[in-house]
Formats: sequence, structure tokens, C-alpha cells
Amino acid sequence: MEIRIDNLKVRPRRLVFAEPVESFLFLRELAERGEVQFRGNISTDVVVTLVGSLVEVEGSLSGTVVLPCSRCLQPVEQPLELQIALSFSRQVVPHAGASEERELSEEEVGLIPFEGDTIDLRSTLEQELLMGLPQHPLCADDCAGLCPVCGADLNRNRCNCTPPIFHGGLAVLKGLKITKD
Ligand SMILES: [Zn+2]
Ligand SMILES: [Zn+2]
Repeated sequence: MEIRIDNLKVRPRRLVFAEPVESFLFLRELAERGEVQFRGNISTDVVVTLVGSLVEVEGSLSGTVVLPCSRCLQPVEQPLELQIALSFSRQVVPHAGASEERELSEEEVGLIPFEGDTIDLRSTLEQELLMGLPQHPLCADDCAGLCPVCGADLNRNRCNCTPPIFHGGLAVLKGLKITKD
């Protein structure tokens, strides 16, 4: 998943990549720790444009993620399709004597630095994928979730637990007087 800057000098390029999850360092680490699993390839289809000293990358990023259902914890396989717009900026080696500390201009914020003649997209793309993960994945819209008392998966079998009643908090509120200055 490399962009060669030389190839962009004449005109923008469309680049299509697909690589197995194993070639992404951080995704592989997460999978090994059992936190987030991805299935199959991570694919990207982007147009890459050289604009002055910036390299603009725009297009789509897709893959299939396996996450626990946020209610019943059963694994849910979910396709992900994300739009991406990234700006890479060539790292300028500071001149000797130049002040190291300076304010970043607005355009520089959000730029991803790179060095040399190629940009490897992998680490940036895996961060984009992780930021695009669904926050509350569900195995089904009407997933019944787990029993809060015994932990039974209510999609599979009903238990005979009485749901807990939370009244302690309200009793405390009754005795509370709100005073205004
Ligand atoms: Zn569920
Ligand atoms: Zn129960």
C-alpha cells in the first residue's frame, strides 16, 4: 500500500489496494489480543493528487469487522465502508539554528507527515478503520440482550429471574431539598 511520489508529478493517480489484515501491524496486534477481529482483506480505492508539497488521498476504505454485540456479546460480523480524505505533508528538516518551536498554521493541523519518496498508507488506514468502528454494534435490531441477574442470553432461552427494581436512588432524591441562593 505504497504511494510513489514520483508517479504523481504528471497527473493524479487512482490506486486500488487490497491486503490481508495480517499485513497491518496494529490490527494484527488487536486481533492477537482478541479485542477486534477483521475478516478477509482491507481494501482501498483512492485518487492521489500532488498539490505543491502536499499529497492528497481521497476515496474509500473497506473491510469486515467482527465485534461483540453491545447487548448480548455474541460476535457480529459487520461490513465497513468509510470515506477517507487525507493530506500528507513532506517533513521538512529544520535548518540549523532555526527555532524548533513555532506555532502550527491552521493548514498544518491535521496533516500527516511523511519522509522520502514513498508514503506507506497502512498505519494511517488502520487508524481510520479503528476510528470508523461502529460504537454500538447489534446482532439484530431487536436483540433481547443478557439477563441482568443471571447473565442468560435472552435471545436463546428465557430465565425465571425477577428484574431488579431500583428504588433506592429515588428515595434519596425525595429527601433532597434544592436551595437557591
Ligand atoms: Zn445481540
Ligand atoms: Zn436471569
